Amino acid sequence: MKGLAMLKIGEIGWIEKDKPKCGPRDAIVKPLALAPCTSDVHTVWEGAIGDRHDMILGHEALGVVDEVGNEVKDFKPGDRVIVPAITPDWDSEAVQRGFPSQSGGALGGWKFSNFKDGVFGEYFHVNLADNNLAHLPEGMSLESAVMITDMMTTGFMAAENAEIGMGATVAVLGIGPVGLCGVAGAALRGAGRIFAVGTRPKAIEVAKEYGATDIISYKDGDTAEQILEATDGAGVDAVIVSGGGPDILIDALKMAKAGSKIANNNYYGKGVGEKDTIPLCRVNWGFGMADKDIVTGLCPGGRVRMERLADIISYGRMDPSLMATHVYKGFDKLEEALLLMKDKPRDLIKPVVLL
Ligand code: NDP
Ligand code: ZN
Repeated sequence: MKGLAMLKIGEIGWIEKDKPKCGPRDAIVKPLALAPCTSDVHTVWEGAIGDRHDMILGHEALGVVDEVGNEVKDFKPGDRVIVPAITPDWDSEAVQRGFPSQSGGALGGWKFSNFKDGVFGEYFHVNLADNNLAHLPEGMSLESAVMITDMMTTGFMAAENAEIGMGATVAVLGIGPVGLCGVAGAALRGAGRIFAVGTRPKAIEVAKEYGATDIISYKDGDTAEQILEATDGAGVDAVIVSGGGPDILIDALKMAKAGSKIANNNYYGKGVGEKDTIPLCRVNWGFGMADKDIVTGLCPGGRVRMERLADIISYGRMDPSLMATHVYKGFDKLEEALLLMKDKPRDLIKPVVLL
């Protein structure tokens, strides 16, 4: 079978591989809709998780079940499914501690295009099908449903990790597709004022649609200063970090009130200096004592999470298809879609490839 792969750091290409084999509790799935992610860009062009050779990329997919193992109960060939980007080992120790995405070690729930072939192949393998697949609701648009697999679950995770309360003031740093879902998640949790930070016009339009009340450009001067000024020096109750470089937490700490949460979505593809560090500001962090908590997370996967996010779409609370700015038809268009994600033209939020 054919797949779009990372050949080595900085290089992608089409390769041929054997069709994956199905274990007793697993499934083999054929893609129905695929989306490239900024994380694929960090993986290939920044070597963020180290070198990989001939690894099929991609972790955002809807599919049609091709084959299931003999212990799978709820799925059969021909079923249309939502495939989470994160597919934990549900019987692991990390799950019992409440951290499924970290099953098998840090980031261990992230298998596709990390330590096994991803979804950008003609077929791909899903571990624990009953726990890691969800049925695609009839009539749901593919452009919407594919956003559940990573963008919605990640952006909403930050809104949850930031513990946004009714009427809270929130800043969302970065309004690519992840940050836009952070905006939507903050609004759904009852935020009052929501600052959205970014410059791409289409993203600004969607941010407003999702509930942003104020748009801030990081290009118009210090972001934190602009937000402090707009809040008469008070700052914000919660910060969602979904963009910016390795020093973005300096901004976040400066605008965060004492007693606030900073929920990080960012995948730091590179750090600063020889020691590859992520800088914090000692003073704005209250010398380490101001109850400004930085919370991190890898996007939640699994069946129940996918089903719940699908309900958010089905019952009309959010329309994630607004983020699908570039829709391609055909498996061969994947490479173009991934390169678009790398180049990030001004009119892009997210490319989607329909098969
Ligand atoms: P995008 O590149 O599409 O969006 C980045 C956003 O950050 C843009 O709005 C950009 O503005 C904005 N930005 C750039 N510089 C700054 C700055 N200095 N201050 C504030 N905002 C800035 O990224 P995605 O939305 O696709 O992904 C966001 C991050 O989430 C990535 O690091 C990605 O790898 C990570 N991620 C993490 C996951 C997890 O499980 N934790 C899962 C999926 C993704 P502009 O409008 O000017 O472009
Ligand atoms: Zn991703």
